[in-house]
Amino acid sequence: MDQTQQTQDTTEPVVELPALTAADRCDICGAQAFIRVVLASGDLVFCGHHGTANKEKLEPIAISWQDETDKLSS
Ligand SMILES: [Zn+2]
Repeated sequence: MDQTQQTQDTTEPVVELPALTAADRCDICGAQAFIRVVLASGDLVFCGHHGTANKEKLEPIAISWQDETDKLSS
């Protein structure tokens, strides 16, 4: 008898997102990205400015909102 315990987890999986690096560039202006937005269709990266600018529009449809703007040293 092969009884493997399989728990049917209906909750959303926790997506481990890699940290944003200097190589990640804002999709709008090309500045270093500090915000990653995961959508059903793919993910977008934004600089702090454009992340904030698009937050109202994108956050309701975002699967995950990764905000690393606290890394910004101004
Ligand atoms: Zn930008």
